[in-house]
Amino acid sequence: MSAPISFPLGEQTTAIHAGETPDPVSGASAPNIVMSTTFVTDADAGFSVEGMEENENWIYTRWGNPTVHQLEVKLAALEQAETAVAFASGMGAISALLLHTLKAGEHAVISDVAYAALAEMTNEMIPQLNIAITKVDTSSLEAIEQAIRPNTRLIYIETPCNPLLRLTDIAAVGQIARAAGARLAVDSTFATPLATRPLQLGADFVIHSLTKYLGGHGDALGGVILGKTADLAPLRKKTAIRLGGVLSPFNAWLIMRGLATFPLRMRAHADNARQVAQFLEGHPQVKQVIYPGRPSHPQYELARRQMKNASGMLTFQVADGPAQARKFAEKLQIIHYAVSLGHHRSLIFYLNSQDLLASSFKFDTPAQLASWRAFAGDGIFRLSVGLEDADDLIRDLEQALA
Ligand SMILES: *Cc1c(COP(=O)(O)O)cnc(C)c1O
Repeated sequence: MSAPISFPLGEQTTAIHAGETPDPVSGASAPNIVMSTTFVTDADAGFSVEGMEENENWIYTRWGNPTVHQLEVKLAALEQAETAVAFASGMGAISALLLHTLKAGEHAVISDVAYAALAEMTNEMIPQLNIAITKVDTSSLEAIEQAIRPNTRLIYIETPCNPLLRLTDIAAVGQIARAAGARLAVDSTFATPLATRPLQLGADFVIHSLTKYLGGHGDALGGVILGKTADLAPLRKKTAIRLGGVLSPFNAWLIMRGLATFPLRMRAHADNARQVAQFLEGHPQVKQVIYPGRPSHPQYELARRQMKNASGMLTFQVADGPAQARKFAEKLQIIHYAVSLGHHRSLIFYLNSQDLLASSFKFDTPAQLASWRAFAGDGIFRLSVGLEDADDLIRDLEQALA
């Protein structure tokens, strides 16, 4: 069998090898998928997860599974985190984090623009548990500071945020959180660990939807929370194991397979997105392009400081969004008119401001609405630039804009 690795590894080697070793029984080089829900134990095994040490023995797949564990080790290595806990989806991870970190009578400060399901959950469900939520534009440090209360226990940000691609300064918010005695959680799905390592900038928890860039192929839902073992061991017991939203070993295997090429893919996504953004900026029908890798991004300096890779997400506006959306859905030949993002296939979707402001995003101040309008106007196309040839993507957009 292979010898243990004795030297520090680069990102691409980590993506391929972390968490994996040849199978000790068969010598298989690729990981096995262990689908078994239960494991034969000795007579001393306990029946409660209480008292269970992390991965001491495999007992029941909701408590822990060898294939899911391999994925968790690989993700922790890529994020340089102590521990990872995988979930059935990004929302599974997010709901677990909120339920674990917040109790009745406490307060959280949350990005006023974030993934729609999180926005909707924190508009209704979480406040019904007697947990107070304040939504602020987290790109404004003053807005966050003003929202802090004596019982604030969590600051939750998303950077770049979905769908605006507006950024938040993680290191600065980390300082505010520490001074307030609150934890900082960062949804880093759009940035990925290749661009940004929030834990090194002062965050306590990092969340990814594995459905997006980390899995990368649009065929497996998954989510993960990363952070310190002291935080995540109790979180695993209380949420993954007891609430039950755990990842299927089959999905873990697919996501692990996708991760082998993750750094290569991210470089190609960013390369393609830069070319497509440049094309769109020069197109007479396009009013505004937002891409963190272009100097036209309103927070380009922060993007350069905080993102080593500008990722593959961009937004743009045209004069009549709804009409162009119908044209794209009919005329695009390569790019799929579909939700989701981070896949090898390019995906585009129109987000109408009026609809989103009615369903998901609640703004308390005129400044919040002004910030939304500066990034999104009346509506934006969110384009997840895939791994096709950039020239083909540009040709496809050109013919469908005409
Ligand atoms: C997609 C997404 C989620 C939710 O992930 P699912 O896997 O779809 O549950 C959360 N945050 C961001 C930023 C996302 O893009």
